[in-house]
Amino acid sequence: MQVTLVDRRNFHLFQPLLYQVATGVLSPANIAAPLRWIVERQANCEVLLGEVQSIDVTGRRVLVDGAALTYDTLIVAAGAHYSYFGHPEWEQLAPGLKTIENATEIRRRLLIAFELAERETDIVRRRMLLTFVIVGGGPTGVEMAGALAEIARHSLKHEFRHIDPADAQIVLVEAGERVLSSYPSDLSEKAQRSLERLGVTVRTRTMVADVAADHVVVNWGGGSERLPTQTVVWAAGVEASPLAKSLAAATGATIDRAGRLIVERDLSLPNHPEIFVLGDMANYSHQTGQPLPGVAPVAIQQGRFVAKLITNRLRGRSIPTFHYRELGNMATIGRSAAVADFGKLRFSGFVAWMLWLVVHLMNLVSFRNRLLVFIQWGWNYVTYDRSARLITGPPDAGAPTGSPSIELASPRSTEPPADNVT
Ligand SMILES: Cc1cc2nc3c(=O)[nH]c(=O)nc-3n(C[C@H](O)[C@H](O)[C@H](O)COP(=O)(O)OP(=O)(O)OC[C@H]3O[C@@H](n4cnc5c(N)ncnc54)[C@H](O)[C@@H]3O)c2cc1C
Repeated sequence: MQVTLVDRRNFHLFQPLLYQVATGVLSPANIAAPLRWIVERQANCEVLLGEVQSIDVTGRRVLVDGAALTYDTLIVAAGAHYSYFGHPEWEQLAPGLKTIENATEIRRRLLIAFELAERETDIVRRRMLLTFVIVGGGPTGVEMAGALAEIARHSLKHEFRHIDPADAQIVLVEAGERVLSSYPSDLSEKAQRSLERLGVTVRTRTMVADVAADHVVVNWGGGSERLPTQTVVWAAGVEASPLAKSLAAATGATIDRAGRLIVERDLSLPNHPEIFVLGDMANYSHQTGQPLPGVAPVAIQQGRFVAKLITNRLRGRSIPTFHYRELGNMATIGRSAAVADFGKLRFSGFVAWMLWLVVHLMNLVSFRNRLLVFIQWGWNYVTYDRSARLITGPPDAGAPTGSPSIELASPRSTEPPADNVT
């Protein structure tokens, strides 16, 4: 067997910890590992850096940056991206957390908001700058909101002279009845209480109706409300890679409302036993009648299954059907607070948090990253320090949208000002 791994990025990204890059706990390299390094000992596997534009199903060719790559068997696992419910223009204003670039951009926006608030004299604008809206109360939104509250209340506590970062308003907007809707309701309630203890305002049954540069409009209970803010993070619905749509057109396969390809029991496409679709791009409903969730264990187990299936096929052995083994769900809300659902066993608080730490640490791809993240977490736990708080990007990217005020706001200290030192 000769394997070619094609990816437009040269690294594997551990997405569950992206929010920690966005909130300055970890650096991007801590949660990524180069693909070439991962498969360096697998002599029959080569890595090709490139973007797949289309797939010629009849000619069995993948078109990568204009060049054609032939195949006998094709595995497509191009993942998903955030969906803006028919409003692609919101993406610029409310980036989702999916890539390293997204995470560093969100980190830049969060930190810039505090910087601009520090030099803002107008109290209304300052309040707007210190309001952060997170859209979507799934695990990513909950984790982001908890981490942001911790930055505001602890990590930045002593660093500003004209504002108190703890005045930041963090609003988590969720359209459904509760946050973490895929978890049992008691764990959802615990997660919400933990967020509220951290100072997060949780707005359930609330729909985002508009996103603008300086506000978000939300609809709830028959009314609508304008939330002045300059910083919005999107963690709502996802949509499969556009490759799913083009594969559906080429093979006659069906896609669901989330753009996922409906796959057979062995994860192949109907009438195309040579094409497999896995992970976030696939809708596999044969087990429970509902699609499997878009989580890493599903993608990993499907990858292992298809590798085995192809080996069995080449050896003339029988081919089983895919069966997902549910491993449980976990989400962390902040320091010493998490929820974990393992079916009959449910945990919350410190125990769940420890389990979350161990599971996420062990799932990082390289030992080096595990060690570095372990040290970072330990340091962060003891000191509240978030050292990866770099504002990167073009130098003018953080310039205020209104005319900057030259005069600084008064220091928040009540002590008489010392002599000015420049
Ligand atoms: C912020 C966040 C937090 C998450 N937290 C959790 C969690 O706590 N627990 C959990 O189980 N799951 C979590 N998930 C979900 C989990 O990460 C996904 O379910 C999993 O990564 C899906 O794997 P995949 O292989 O299908 O897609 P991905 O991991 O998204 O991989 C897709 C790959 O395809 C490449 N690609 C895409 N299009 C092309 C193209 N045209 N040409 C070439 N390459 C292409 C991409 O570069 C990428 O490397 C989280 C996801 C996000 C975004």
